[in-house]
Amino acid sequence: MNTITDQKQFMLRVEKKVIENQTHATLGFSHALPFRPGQFIMVWIPGVDEKPYTISLHTRERFAITIEAKGIFSKKAIALEKGDLVGIRGPFGNGFDVKADAQVAVVAGGCGMAPLAPLVEKLDKKAIVIHGARTREHLLYPDRFDMERLFCTDDGSFGHKGLVTALLEKQITSGKHFDMVYTCGPEIMMYHVFKICEAHHIPCQVSLERYMRCGFGVCGACVCGKQVVCLDGPVFGSAVLREMKDFNTKALLKSGKEVALSQYFSWRCK
Ligand SMILES: Cc1cc2nc3c(=O)[nH]c(=O)nc-3n(C[C@H](O)[C@H](O)[C@H](O)COP(=O)(O)OP(=O)(O)OC[C@H]3O[C@@H](n4cnc5c(N)ncnc54)[C@H](O)[C@@H]3O)c2cc1C
Repeated sequence: MNTITDQKQFMLRVEKKVIENQTHATLGFSHALPFRPGQFIMVWIPGVDEKPYTISLHTRERFAITIEAKGIFSKKAIALEKGDLVGIRGPFGNGFDVKADAQVAVVAGGCGMAPLAPLVEKLDKKAIVIHGARTREHLLYPDRFDMERLFCTDDGSFGHKGLVTALLEKQITSGKHFDMVYTCGPEIMMYHVFKICEAHHIPCQVSLERYMRCGFGVCGACVCGKQVVCLDGPVFGSAVLREMKDFNTKALLKSGKEVALSQYFSWRCK
């Protein structure tokens, strides 16, 4: 096991691979990283590319990333095996402001559970985790946490049939008090979670994704309104979100062209 280091760039071998489902795999590394839940690393596969991934599991001795297969890079990444070498830069970004002993809700959509998982493990057992996905098979880490967990699926194959926002709203209107709501998932989902929080005067923190290249605020590829997502985020709180006109509306492609969010996330419809 390597020891904790401030070094931000190193090569590591995959120590463990877990197939989560047909489209997701988790790669584990035996290396201690300084880390706050919500931070991300840049992962380089030699000869392929380098892309941002959030840390989905963190202990004093190891960390892991969970990858959803989408395009060339992520398909290569989930095909990596124990012993394969990857380059790591980071961790980067701000991470969540952890309210460990408060009454909080964590709202995850699909692979959005990945950055939220290390946060959940730092929270008090009285936190509520609301987790939605397309089907039962797509729910990540179904048995990982030791706290109240509410599930929903689009097809009704597990838990409530419907959206995480309906479950959150029901918790609030039935009298549950939340000091904070943390969320990660499709941006449209996070937008509606934020709107529900605004209506009920609950602070909210969302983890945003934009196209990233450098990871530390130099290249400008991930600019979102006035924010540089890799440097100022990827986690943003209610006060910033209220002013962020590109939230749930626009994003920059790899080329730098500004497009509607539906076009930026068009892989979701494939
Ligand atoms: C801070 C952050 C954390 C992330 N954490 C995770 C995670 O834990 N698990 C996970 O599966 N995915 C995560 N992603 C998304 C992941 O980086 C992309 O899905 C991946 O780069 C896809 O590459 P590809 O070649 O397979 O797909 P492509 O076909 O190249 O792209 C598919 C989609 O992935 C996104 N994407 C592609 N390249 C980048 C890039 N350089 N930066 C940001 N988004 C990109 C875009 O939405 C694009 O439309 C994260 C992204 C960010 C910004």
